[in-house]
Amino acid sequence: MHDIVDLRSDTLTLPTPEMREAMARAEVGDDVWGEDPTVQRLEALAAARLGKEAGLFVASGTMGNLVSVVAHTQAGQEVVLDLDSHIYNYEVAGGTIVGHVQMRPVKTERGFLTPEQVQESLRPANIHIPPTGLVCLENTHNRHGGTCCPPEDIAAVAAVAHGAGVPVHIDGARLFNAAVALKREPRDFARHADSVTFCLSKGLGAPVGSVVCGAAPFVERARRVRKMVGGGMRQAGILAAAGLVALERMVDRLADDHGNARTLAEAVATMPGLTVDLASVQTNIVVIRVSPGDRTASAKATTELVAGCAARKVKIHATGPTGIRCVTHKDVDADDIRRAVEAFRELTARW
Ligand SMILES: *Cc1c(COP(=O)(O)O)cnc(C)c1O
Repeated sequence: MHDIVDLRSDTLTLPTPEMREAMARAEVGDDVWGEDPTVQRLEALAAARLGKEAGLFVASGTMGNLVSVVAHTQAGQEVVLDLDSHIYNYEVAGGTIVGHVQMRPVKTERGFLTPEQVQESLRPANIHIPPTGLVCLENTHNRHGGTCCPPEDIAAVAAVAHGAGVPVHIDGARLFNAAVALKREPRDFARHADSVTFCLSKGLGAPVGSVVCGAAPFVERARRVRKMVGGGMRQAGILAAAGLVALERMVDRLADDHGNARTLAEAVATMPGLTVDLASVQTNIVVIRVSPGDRTASAKATTELVAGCAARKVKIHATGPTGIRCVTHKDVDADDIRRAVEAFRELTARW
């Protein structure tokens, strides 16, 4: 039970006492000089979990995706990715600005490119046409509500890309949520990709940081790009220490977050004026559509719902005029979910 039930994002999770302890005790050095043992331990552990040769600790998921895109491509190439992807929508066009690549967004059914879509998007060799340099996938898919793509589907897409000599990057900000939800090992997902970024700072609860994993030569290129964008951090072991606790202690408990999201989603789905696609509630994200009337009435209802919840110490996030997103995480427990459900119930009772 917490004073405020904060469902706006799993990025709001606070570091655990064990993380703070590990940070205080962390053995550190200058990581740009390759001398921070704690960063090196984190990079090695992350790489091992994902079955890759090497890892690179970066400041954020955004930086991880940026250095990956730039390290994989050359200026003038094209990057194939889902239209609703985080890289295309929320990363300030970094790949385009820093890497001089053109983004090729493809509209998909559930956020995951199919092998056919990748096949159709690959560019033929032609003097007029930008060559395809990279295919990006996102797992779990943020805008589609935390949906999971199983390793077999990744394999099918990667086979098409690799058949054309094109590498595959997975934006796995919440890859560990997918692994826990599908009861598969993280390396099963990573196996088919050339690189994977995952966030330590979301459901895993670390205060800062993400890790990019891949083959050693790729990671060395990514390290250079990281330096270029100002991501060479000195005694970063202070942060990596929390990341190690996140990887060692916080993965299995993600199942609790998924259970809480399910409970919330099933309750909300029965309420008047609110709809939830229960099939999309596979991990820790619940996307709610607010539609008690026409568009204007629904937009007003959304605003009132957010304010009404806030007045009941339940924080939720409006993703648009008629959309709400709730994200469960370690700082939200079963009692908190009951309070959130209660708030929704009171506020929609007369809709
Ligand atoms: C959060 C997120 C990112 C970016 O991570 P930051 O650490 O916030 O920069 C990238 N991709 C997806 C799918 C995300 O959900």
